[in-house]
Amino acid sequence: MTEEINAELNGFAKLGISGQLLKATNTAGFTEPKPIQEQAIPAQLAGRDILGIAQTGSGKTAAFALPILSKIIALGTKRRPKTARALILAPTRELAVQIEETIKVLAKGAHISTALVLGGVSRFSQVKKIGPGVDFVIATPGRLMDLVREKDINLSETTWLVLDEADRMLDMGFINDVKRIAKATHPARQTALFSATMPAEIEQLTQSLLRDPVRVEVAPQGTTAAEIVQSVVLARTKQKRKVLSDMLSDDAMSSVIVFARTKHGADRVTKDLERDGFEAAVIHGNKSQNARQKALNGFRDGSVRILVATDIAARGIDVPGISHVVNFDLPDEAESYVHRIGRTGRNGRDGIAITLVDPSENSKLRQVERIIRMKLPVMADHLGQPDPAREPRPQGERSFESANDGAREDRGHRRDGRPRNDGFGKKRFGGQPQGGRPFSGKPDGERGAQGERSQGGDRPFSGKPSGERHFHGKPKGDRPFGDKPHGERKPDGAKPFRSKRRFNRKPAARAA
Ligand code: AMP
Repeated sequence: MTEEINAELNGFAKLGISGQLLKATNTAGFTEPKPIQEQAIPAQLAGRDILGIAQTGSGKTAAFALPILSKIIALGTKRRPKTARALILAPTRELAVQIEETIKVLAKGAHISTALVLGGVSRFSQVKKIGPGVDFVIATPGRLMDLVREKDINLSETTWLVLDEADRMLDMGFINDVKRIAKATHPARQTALFSATMPAEIEQLTQSLLRDPVRVEVAPQGTTAAEIVQSVVLARTKQKRKVLSDMLSDDAMSSVIVFARTKHGADRVTKDLERDGFEAAVIHGNKSQNARQKALNGFRDGSVRILVATDIAARGIDVPGISHVVNFDLPDEAESYVHRIGRTGRNGRDGIAITLVDPSENSKLRQVERIIRMKLPVMADHLGQPDPAREPRPQGERSFESANDGAREDRGHRRDGRPRNDGFGKKRFGGQPQGGRPFSGKPDGERGAQGERSQGGDRPFSGKPSGERHFHGKPKGDRPFGDKPHGERKPDGAKPFRSKRRFNRKPAARAA
């Protein structure tokens, strides 16, 4: 295919991308620019700073990488020792790895050098890679700061700076490192800052680091992607393990991230899942970089169906085809909910987010609902059921609390965690609802106050809109939700409630 044909067929040509870069973009399958790319690329090519309000999944990596690549390619290959022409700062190692992968794909055939500077792995190879000078350094702030202090890297010639997921860098306590690093770069640099949310500190950072930036916003702050069907399951903390295992015995949950609030919690959930016969990988800040990457690779290539993660470790993970996000517990910060569920429903695909809520988490739930500006429907209520820890054991069945490998088989699952095909296993999230007493009769939205017990047990997804779902207060932004036009939403602003048949839908095949 010639460049002329590319230029006609590839929307990136109209944005000013040309030559080898356009070819690589085309080969990567990027032919139609995403909205953030349409807005950010021409402005950056014209030398402007960018303030991007966007989440991972919006296409922001290519939005900042393509203009920088285009300019670096035009400069030629001369680099000075220990310098980096462009610096991308990211909050997590996983996101940094992902960004480097995207840059390599987009720069294919263009002789661009990249180096990762990350904590948790040997500095020696990083320092060695930077030695002759590189085009891109993609770094987490803590380790990069170490290298700056040790004079292993010289940022004085860095004329492109990108701060990715700036709000998360703030949450993780990196803000002072970020400021110091920015100060060490070339004073006449071009800067782009991307953030999913705009807390006051990020607003201040923007004012101190960006010069008259072009503001690019692809989804209003704090709103969730439109393709994600969200609901809650009411369950006491002690019941959550069983609820989760029952849920996961449904094959329709083909690729699941389970979020836990703490590292310890993530380890415990993983151990319990393994005891219940599931294979699960775990990813959190105490794991080595190799273990994290291995878990992520297994999840990405589909060999691991369940990934248990903490907020920080999962931030920015872009794994296509995640069918479900399960919040084992609610995050401390309500905004993390938006990031968590944003791991599914990516690239226009459908996603499902289910949050397990103990009555003690009601106030956190209310905060989340305030941020997403909708009341989450209750899909199942286990609060009226007896405490599983005290339930009398049927003969021959081990109690849930002391479950081990065999216990899962007792409950209708094979040792590999798959449900039996003999109809014994209960399929609540995929097939037709079975068993489960009807819900108390209360409308979805009328969730019991803390401590209140409802009459019934599971209430399978009815597929009907909840009459009680509504928004709290007025939407803050111009458009109340996501980037869907108003008309696609219910008049009261509620997302159209989808049929539970959606649970049966096989997600699209994963990218290798
Ligand atoms: P990002 O927000 O940069 O993490 O991108 C999210 C996903 O969208 C990644 O899997 C990219 O490969 C993909 N992507 C970004 N831009 C485009 C595009 N113009 N066409 C198709 N896929 C894209």
